[in-house]
Amino acid sequence: MPPWETCLQKLQEHISADAFDSTIRPLQAQPFQGGIKLYAPNRYIRDEVKREYLPLIVELLAEFGGDGLVQALEIEVGQPSEPKPKGPKPSIQGGNGKSRARGGLDPAYTFENFVEGESNRFAKDAAQRVADNPGSNNPLLFHGSVGLGKTHLMQAIGNLIQSRDADVRIVYCHCQVFLESMVEAVRLGGSAMQQFARRYQSADALLVDDIQFIAGAPQTQKEFLKIFNRLWDDGRQIVVTCDRYPRYVKGLEGSLKSRLSGGLHVQIKPPGKAMRVAILKSKALSRGVSLSEEVAGYIATVANANVRELDGALQSVIGQARFIGDEITLELAQDALRHLVGGPGRTINIGEILRTVADHYDVKPAEILSRRRYRHLVRSRHVAMYLVKELTNRSYSDIGKEFGGSHHTTVKSACAKIERLVQTDPGLDEEIHSLVADLKR
Ligand code: ADP
Ligand code: MG
Repeated sequence: MPPWETCLQKLQEHISADAFDSTIRPLQAQPFQGGIKLYAPNRYIRDEVKREYLPLIVELLAEFGGDGLVQALEIEVGQPSEPKPKGPKPSIQGGNGKSRARGGLDPAYTFENFVEGESNRFAKDAAQRVADNPGSNNPLLFHGSVGLGKTHLMQAIGNLIQSRDADVRIVYCHCQVFLESMVEAVRLGGSAMQQFARRYQSADALLVDDIQFIAGAPQTQKEFLKIFNRLWDDGRQIVVTCDRYPRYVKGLEGSLKSRLSGGLHVQIKPPGKAMRVAILKSKALSRGVSLSEEVAGYIATVANANVRELDGALQSVIGQARFIGDEITLELAQDALRHLVGGPGRTINIGEILRTVADHYDVKPAEILSRRRYRHLVRSRHVAMYLVKELTNRSYSDIGKEFGGSHHTTVKSACAKIERLVQTDPGLDEEIHSLVADLKR
């Protein structure tokens, strides 16, 4: 077996299945000057591989392929070029360097494993519609901040279209890759620029991720606009993601802004608590783990910035449980996620929660602990009780004792009330979010 395949097998034994699927599997390898060149579909994966797995890869390659391989090991963003056709069979590949079967898509992104909720329902519907009927809504634009599933949905569209028709040419590219290839084409001169444009213009569906990266590069924007117009005129599907509504991206040409927003645009919002819990459960289940309500609630409270953070937190918890061979309990989750709340090696305590909540509502900790019933005090008291329950492992009766001798049923109903409100009132969910963020400092 070639050394890279052997190395892959070994890597699979050394790292978690999730890490393998998300980071190693998307890599493509090609022989290069006596060594190996690895291609990552985007710079995030490249950086992650460099940061986390390169020493292991080097070690394994040295073991199976010898030092020569390792000395010429490179990793870059892109796709291996197509092998030169052997024999007399004519080639129709046109040297565009894109693998037709995959088009840069990661097969792990599907509609089936995308959890739907209030914050992304429109986006998922739109994605599904476009996948069912490419060219129908042009362009389709997803906007929203990081880690909310834009790339996932965009690639799910590509994967579904491709699975229904292997001949459709889907081109997925991260905008950074688009920029870099254009710089390279300009540098090379000659016909490189035409080849560059052809690569994208020949797509039946073009998926460009994180278009905000094109801001401040007017020449590239002009080129992109040309490609865009050409595809649009031909009724070929264009899907774009952006970290905000294009109008708010500084350094983006007006004409591009209006073209990008001229089709169907959908915002993806951060998931509320109920949805975070649903996502956690679904992701846990797909990894063969079942989470209790309590643990899912805890993770959803501390890892509340976006789905990526949520997923990372879940992986830490599962990793910790596997490492010590234990059940996933609340204590284990708290331990595994200590870096998220209160910093490593530090447990969050009632005093800190009280101070943070008091600061936030502009009241005194003593007032929170008192039994006074002014509305704003009651709200801050309930929120403080809720956070203590969620973030520490104190029991209801413990908390009651700390909060001026309240009965445990009072604490329980206060926590239940906030939990209910968090599910339905995005304003309160955000408030809790910012309190947890303060506690993370
Ligand atoms: P973005 O492109 O908006 O920054 P991604 O699509 O990369 O976000 O999502 C970050 C991570 O969270 C990915 O692993 C993705 O699969 C996952 N994810 C995001 N939203 C969902 C969802 N609704 N259901 C399941 N996984 C999700
Ligand atoms: Mg993305």
